Amino acid sequence: MDHQIYLYLVSFVLGTCLGSFYNVCIYRYIEQESIVHPPSHCPNCGHYLKWWENIPILSYIFLRGRCSSCGSSISIRYLVVELLSGIWSVLLVIKYGFSVSYFIFLGIGGIFIILSFIDLEIFILPDILTIPGSILCLLSAPLIGVSIINSLIGALFGSGFFLLIQKGYKFLKGREGLGTGDIKLMFMIGALLGGEAIPFVVFLGSIFGLIGGLIFLRSHSQDTSNPIPFGPFLCASAMVYILIGRDLLNWYLKFIR
Ligand SMILES: [Zn+2]
Repeated sequence: MDHQIYLYLVSFVLGTCLGSFYNVCIYRYIEQESIVHPPSHCPNCGHYLKWWENIPILSYIFLRGRCSSCGSSISIRYLVVELLSGIWSVLLVIKYGFSVSYFIFLGIGGIFIILSFIDLEIFILPDILTIPGSILCLLSAPLIGVSIINSLIGALFGSGFFLLIQKGYKFLKGREGLGTGDIKLMFMIGALLGGEAIPFVVFLGSIFGLIGGLIFLRSHSQDTSNPIPFGPFLCASAMVYILIGRDLLNWYLKFIR
């Protein structure tokens, strides 16, 4: 029992440290800065962060979400990303232990988190993440028990389905509904999880999207011509599938037999 708690703690700390790095990637992509230079700083006054201002979660709480130099508030996004990444890591270790699957899903989940928060902020799923992410997923699939053929089927099924929706929407409405980033993201998810995951991910993602869309429209203006980012909902849905999808599918198959 003690051993288990120690394991969860280590995986949580690892997750939050990765989350801290994801925050740097998200911020610097949005601001179009380099990942390595300059060192972490306050976006308002340029104050360089000391080591104790850079500790995941704890620094945000100690500083009460404010820069120690100028007092301007730090986006709650930093805390949310670190917490999410920490919780993701713990849930993975509960499901998979410290295995190859754990590390693959930890890394690719990180890409999902970075993509989601960039999409929420500026409505873009950058190629610089989805294209290498797709290659990484194709290469990783055999290591987590998804055959190369199934991985290719998933990639083509997922992206092809979204391409059809995109073309159909444009044909009917005369304007863009889905971005090409969503198509690439579905390629990536299908390549990782295989063909049988696609209906689940699309269905759950649509439910998340519907709920999220209502909240999003409420918190923003009532202007419905604003695009609603779909990427975060697809990512969340893929992450749910990674944790419980196969169990649900097996249960369902037993049920209908
Ligand atoms: Zn400052």
